Amino acid sequence: MSQPRRVFDGFGASQRSVSTFVTPRDPEELAAVFRRASEEGVRVAMRGSGRSYGDAALNGGQLIVDMRLMNQILSWDPETGIIETRPGLTIRELWQTILADGWWPPVVPGTAWPTLGGCASMNIHGKNHFKMGGIGDHILELDIVTPTGALLTLSREVEPELFHAVIAGFGMLGAITRVKLKMKQVESGRLRVRQWAVPDLRRQIEAFEAHREDSDYLVSWVDCIAPGRALGRAQVHRAVYIPREHDPEVDLDPDHQHLPGHIMGVPKTLVPKILKLFSFNLGMRMVNLGKYLASVVGSNKPYLQGHVAFHFLLDYVPNFREAYDPGGFIQYQPFVPAAHALDVFTDLLQRCQRADIVPYLGVLKRYRPDDFLLSHALDGFSLAMDFPVTRANRDALWALCHEMSDVVLEVGGRFYPAKDSVLRPEDFRRAFGQGPIATFRGLRDRVDPQRILRTEWAERVGVDGD
Ligand SMILES: Cc1cc2nc3c(=O)[nH]c(=O)nc-3n(C[C@H](O)[C@H](O)[C@H](O)COP(=O)(O)OP(=O)(O)OC[C@H]3O[C@@H](n4cnc5c(N)ncnc54)[C@H](O)[C@@H]3O)c2cc1C
Repeated sequence: MSQPRRVFDGFGASQRSVSTFVTPRDPEELAAVFRRASEEGVRVAMRGSGRSYGDAALNGGQLIVDMRLMNQILSWDPETGIIETRPGLTIRELWQTILADGWWPPVVPGTAWPTLGGCASMNIHGKNHFKMGGIGDHILELDIVTPTGALLTLSREVEPELFHAVIAGFGMLGAITRVKLKMKQVESGRLRVRQWAVPDLRRQIEAFEAHREDSDYLVSWVDCIAPGRALGRAQVHRAVYIPREHDPEVDLDPDHQHLPGHIMGVPKTLVPKILKLFSFNLGMRMVNLGKYLASVVGSNKPYLQGHVAFHFLLDYVPNFREAYDPGGFIQYQPFVPAAHALDVFTDLLQRCQRADIVPYLGVLKRYRPDDFLLSHALDGFSLAMDFPVTRANRDALWALCHEMSDVVLEVGGRFYPAKDSVLRPEDFRRAFGQGPIATFRGLRDRVDPQRILRTEWAERVGVDGD
């Protein structure tokens, strides 16, 4: 094939590679791409907006299928809240379409840029997983085009095994070409939010458990650098939907959903440059301390906040990853059963501090189990940790993550392909289990017998065997 080629990266910008690429506009063009790839022995990866942090949407030396031009809305029913779209539609385009009718996506990630195909393939979670599950729990039906050229419609009733494997199947079982989703009804364009400081990890976990029943969203920003008795101190954010009568404005106009232009008085375009000045361990200790103290002072006063401002905090600073130039960063996000979360996360943070390789940002969330074959979800917590990558720390950082993975896997923990850069094949087998992996490979035999679908992540962790 003679296609254009360019450098692609993961969102963390610590992994990149050169691939050829195509941008099909409909399922027929996509099927033609697979036919030619099969004839020419080319291996193919789908890519949405490339918001996965590591190598999940990379395919160095082979072909990337950029799905973003397939972003049409096929139908929207404001009575039932059911929408059908092509896979390239972004979360941003989704909420902009439905909010005025009194609906909001049931699950959104921390950024609005991902596509629905990328979200379904990873079964993304939001700050409400403990209550609403992942996005897959709200998908009613999917179409996929397989590398053999078949167009299959999947649901909980039709081809349920494939349906539960394509969702969270990281693009290895075909290209998703249509998604039918049920939205969540909302009466106001705002949420009631409360944030407060917790002095350590134990009280942070207790706060989540105490508020699981009466919250719609829970998340906390963890200071991963504070040592000793302050280990795991954090700022917890809790939000609830509000009924119409509790919001004097009831403003469902999408144009009134804003991301602020300033953060703590600093124009957001300058924030990456300022963060870069602090991007060393001592500097980040000061940033985390400042954020924690600000949350102690400003704690506990409930306020109303627009959905967009609450959910897409990381979009406030569009280029925040530039703060990590030139080496980029990785996010390491272990999922740990609730009964082990305090011990394991304490252990992990202490290991980071002992190694003097500390996460600059930490985020804690709560989950419930789900029915998807290779799911990262469990009844427990995840602690996402952002680590800068430098030429000097790279080997030690990977070694630290492998050490931490052993601790996580020992208690039945899991990992999330969208955030991973470090998993080894043995970690993948332990995290997802030999049985589910064998079932997944059996499905690959059926839909992709020539093994045309490939990503660097799938190859690294040995999805098809070591
Ligand atoms: C700032 C930031 C915050 C984030 N917060 C969260 C969060 O809170 N929760 C969360 O779960 N995730 C979060 N993420 C991760 C992000 O939601 C996922 O990586 C998501 O999959 C990205 O979607 P994408 O369209 O960019 O897909 P890509 O990253 O391009 O691709 C992801 C995977 O989907 C496959 N794929 C893409 N399109 C298709 C298709 N049409 N058919 C089949 N396979 C396809 C790709 O091959 C790849 O395996 C965050 C990312 C960023 C950058």
